[in-house]
Amino acid sequence: MVLELTFVVLKPHVVKVPSISKEIKNIIIRNGFLVIRSKEKILNPNDLQMFYGEHKNKFFYNRLISFMSSGPIEAYVLARENAIHKWRELMGPTRVFEAQFSAPDTIRGKFGLTDTRNATHGSDSTESARREMSILFPDFDPIQWLKTNENHFRGDG
Ligand code: UDP
Repeated sequence: MVLELTFVVLKPHVVKVPSISKEIKNIIIRNGFLVIRSKEKILNPNDLQMFYGEHKNKFFYNRLISFMSSGPIEAYVLARENAIHKWRELMGPTRVFEAQFSAPDTIRGKFGLTDTRNATHGSDSTESARREMSILFPDFDPIQWLKTNENHFRGDG
C-alpha cells in the first residue's frame, strides 16, 4: 500500500453542530483514513489569505473569507492510499445545487448549505496538500512523515 496524505477542513457551520461533525468524523474513519494531525482553530486573516490566495479576485472571495473566520474550523492531516482523490470523491462537488441533485449521498450533498458553506475542504493535489498543511501545521513535514512510515504500512510482510 502506498500511503498518500491529504489536508481536510471541517468548515465553521459543521463544527458548530456536534452531530454533523461526528458523522463526518465517522466517514473519515469508516473509509480507512488515518488521522495523522488534527487541530481546532479560528482562522485569522493571514491564514486565510495564504489558504485562499488563488481565489483573491473571485466574486465570492470576501464572502468566503468572512465565513471561514466566523468560528472555529477543524483541520486534519489524513493518510490513506489515494487519499486526495478518495476524499474529494466522498466530499462531492463544490456547488451545493450540483451536490444535492447529482451527488446527494456525498458530504456536501448531505451537509452543504450554500456554495460557500459547503461543509468541508479537501486538497486537490499533492502540491496544494503540502502548502495547506504548512499553514495549519507548520511543524509537520509531510515528506519526512511519508519516508518514515512507508515501510510500516506496506502490508507485504
Ligand atoms: N466557493 C464559493 N462560491 C463558488 C465557488 C467556490 O463560495 O462559486 C467557495 C467554496 O467554499 C469552495 C471554496 O470557495 O469550497 C474554494 O473553491 P474551489 O473552487 O477551490 O472548490 P473546492 O476545491 O473547495 O471544491
